[in-house]
Amino acid sequence: MKALLFIETDGEKVLGASCELISAVKALDAQGTALIVGSRAAADTVATFGIPVIFTETATDSDTLTQVLSEMVKELNPDIVLLANTTLAKDIAPRISGRMDLGFVSDVIGMNKTDDKVIYTRPAYGGTILEHIEVEGTAVVIVRNGTFSKPEAASNASVTEKKVEIPASVVKTKIVDTVIDNCESVNLEEAQVIVSGGRGMGNAENFKLVEELAGVLGGVVGATRPAIEDGWICRTHQVGQSGKIVAPKLYIACGISGATQHTSGMTGAKYIVAINKDEEAPIFEIADISIIGNVNEILPVLIEEMKKVKAK
Ligand SMILES: Cc1cc2nc3c(=O)[nH]c(=O)nc-3n(C[C@H](O)[C@H](O)[C@H](O)COP(=O)(O)OP(=O)(O)OC[C@H]3O[C@@H](n4cnc5c(N)ncnc54)[C@H](O)[C@@H]3O)c2cc1C
Repeated sequence: MKALLFIETDGEKVLGASCELISAVKALDAQGTALIVGSRAAADTVATFGIPVIFTETATDSDTLTQVLSEMVKELNPDIVLLANTTLAKDIAPRISGRMDLGFVSDVIGMNKTDDKVIYTRPAYGGTILEHIEVEGTAVVIVRNGTFSKPEAASNASVTEKKVEIPASVVKTKIVDTVIDNCESVNLEEAQVIVSGGRGMGNAENFKLVEELAGVLGGVVGATRPAIEDGWICRTHQVGQSGKIVAPKLYIACGISGATQHTSGMTGAKYIVAINKDEEAPIFEIADISIIGNVNEILPVLIEEMKKVKAK
């Protein structure tokens, strides 16, 4: 069984989650080749894990990477193409799969090999069930971070430099700027009061109401994953299964439906206030106080009332 690993870098260093793919290859007892684009130093690092590396010096935009990976798939004809669960991988992996007519499995949390067949396990329906998937032919697979451990150092493998032709016609996008994500650290775990906002806040401007109420109450701002994915607030504020587990005295959930992936992170709260326009929202099942209505009308009133109480 042959595996092609796309090892991602931050421009210089290897991303930790990508390194875990090397352990996945070892667990499958497959013959792995790592592909690294752009950083020769990263290529040398990966070779120290005993896996042969193909290094290519090109741009690292997603159009170019899709082309490079597609060419490598043509040349090496792997049974599996492995990528770590990153934003970039989510962009390029489906494109390679579509372009090359290959199977695609995302968010894989387990791989089981029997008789040269691999069964991929991934959560579905918000993690309430697990799917076991088999792919005909080559599979493009995104592996969830933390599924495999970091690899052990081994005897140095080779690094082969390769030139891949990138026709100008395949590059449709251009990176015009790169901005460093300066997320502030936030101690949600120890906060006594948390005001959290979800998709129901509607937009970044409205989300400021959540921040304002948290400020008035001397609390900390929490958020659901959609609010973070929409860029309304930094990911350090995420509460839930893939965020922080919190246990404040007071948790105010604003425009949050109450999906298990969120509530599993906040059911330790002593007192829960939920504001939602849908009276059947699951969040009300665990709320001590349920406020049914438009959060963007209710929050300004709450903020004003709290200010009055504090001024007394
Ligand atoms: C593996 C995995 C891990 C995940 N981890 C997390 C995690 O750690 N944390 C997390 O939060 N999510 C996580 N999720 C996502 C989770 O499944 C839900 O999609 C998410 O929690 C829903 O967020 P939400 O409540 O903001 O959005 P929605 O479910 O879309 O709910 C929005 C709510 O707002 C209400 N609403 C809309 N407009 C208004 C208004 N004007 N006034 C009042 N109410 C309004 C709606 O009635 C609705 O109930 C994860 C998912 C997966 C698959």
